[in-house]
Amino acid sequence: MQFHDSMISLVGNTPLVRLNNVTKGIKATVLAKVEYFNPGGSVKDRIALRMIEAAEESGALKPGGTIVEPTSGNTGVGLAIVAQQKGYKCIFVCPDKVSTDKINVLRAYGAEVVVCPTAVDPEHPDSYYNVSDRLVRETPGAWKPDQYSNPNNPLSHYHSTGPELWEQTDGKITHFVAGVGTGGTISGTGRYLKDASDGKVQVVGADPEGSVYSGGSGRPYLVEGVGEDFWPTAYDRTVADEIVAVSDKDSFQMTRRLAKEEGLLVGGSCGMAVVAALRVAERLDENGVVVVLLPDSGRGYLSKIFNDEWMADYGFLEDEGPSARVADVL
Ligand code: PMP
Repeated sequence: MQFHDSMISLVGNTPLVRLNNVTKGIKATVLAKVEYFNPGGSVKDRIALRMIEAAEESGALKPGGTIVEPTSGNTGVGLAIVAQQKGYKCIFVCPDKVSTDKINVLRAYGAEVVVCPTAVDPEHPDSYYNVSDRLVRETPGAWKPDQYSNPNNPLSHYHSTGPELWEQTDGKITHFVAGVGTGGTISGTGRYLKDASDGKVQVVGADPEGSVYSGGSGRPYLVEGVGEDFWPTAYDRTVADEIVAVSDKDSFQMTRRLAKEEGLLVGGSCGMAVVAALRVAERLDENGVVVVLLPDSGRGYLSKIFNDEWMADYGFLEDEGPSARVADVL
């Protein structure tokens, strides 16, 4: 009989897929690491599993305990799946810019979700960071993974994503491109690839215009899951060789092209990372092997990025080729 013990054993080992159409005119090979193949639909399953297992080992998370975390959704899904399989409760705290689709998914997996305003400073008592801290203090048996400072966030990538990419490319990867949110993906994967290649692999971060990683002030942007208004400790500033800032408009237009031209229905941070990857790939010859990590699926963004009215309201459809309009093919 062939079966997995539970969904937990399906975390990681995601496929690498060549981008063939959005790469027209580019000589280098551009490969996408498609993380929506994880059981919870995103790259965050990797960190959820390692953070929970490490907390069990250290005794920070005890049988029957409650996991409390501020999360924009994807980390919550990963934590909720691992937690329910292992018998823990979950309470998640989300900013109100997160789509209701994502929040409903968390509730479907059995988690409790508390929604907080986006338009307040991180120091404000109602900020989603502070609300989650208060819940940790008030809930018996609570444990906060804190993906922003938990070393097992980048370590999960050092031990899974990095080795997978090195093996899948037979050590031929020359550039790794990933969006930066907590910084776990780029720090852990990037560090592994640097170690494996004697520092040869170039690591490039993709960041929404306005976020601190690319020198911004933390002003708002619409791409979800990436960019910050502070410097998390999960982000190792010594790993990335370059940070590329990408606008919301470019991110979302590329996200729509990935669905239309590559068969990849992915989230907005994926479009953002691909824009950065193509900017890097344009500079390379046929020996370049650029891997771009696509964190999640587009299913959570149907009412935003894949909705022409929402896109038009923000002016994001201007200059978009008519072939990329969703309504044209419906
Ligand atoms: N994209 C999405 C959709 C995410 O949820 C996240 C995680 N916040 C990222 C990208 C960035 O990954 P990381 O936190 O590892 O930097």
